[in-house]
Amino acid sequence: MNFKSLIRDVPNFPKEGVIFKDITLLLQNPSALKQTANALFHLLEGRKIDKVVGMESRGFIFGPILAEKLNAGFVPVRKPGKLPSTTISETYDLEYGTDTLEIHIDGIKKGDRVLIHDDVLATGGTASAACKLIEKLGGVIVQCNFLLELTFLEGNSKISTYPVKSLIKY
Ligand code: 5GP
Repeated sequence: MNFKSLIRDVPNFPKEGVIFKDITLLLQNPSALKQTANALFHLLEGRKIDKVVGMESRGFIFGPILAEKLNAGFVPVRKPGKLPSTTISETYDLEYGTDTLEIHIDGIKKGDRVLIHDDVLATGGTASAACKLIEKLGGVIVQCNFLLELTFLEGNSKISTYPVKSLIKY
């Protein structure tokens, strides 16, 4: 399947100068949706996973599908103030300013084998913060996997201590 043909470049979104990779054409195509989920699942090569952690918001699309395929649970990592119970948080630097992510403290148990999943690996700030949250709770990161990776932003370098896999690279 030519996944790239279903990923659309949207210039100047969400702000001037950014070329946004839009995955909605891929999601709305029944065959592409199924093949993408299967291909992301096969990146695990049979490794055992207890929890799939998906980042708000597009990590919530394939994250739960992968969790179901892996017989794992799904744990959301969200922006501040969205999770209702007790959380821990991690703040990370953006080009201008900072951002923060949160996770429920009971989302990960000590020793849980974790897959981190998001749609896109760009600068790596989001994924790196998610990895720190998992490790604070005693989880073991088995793999970080992404639908697509913007290799020219070198996000990989921020999570280079973990196995990183992406289905599509630009
Ligand atoms: P990073 O923290 O690696 O710079 O950015 C990754 C996060 O931003 C991911 O949660 C991803 O959903 C979002 N993101 C950044 N750039 C894009 C893009 O071009 N397309 C999509 N779909 N998401 C993006």
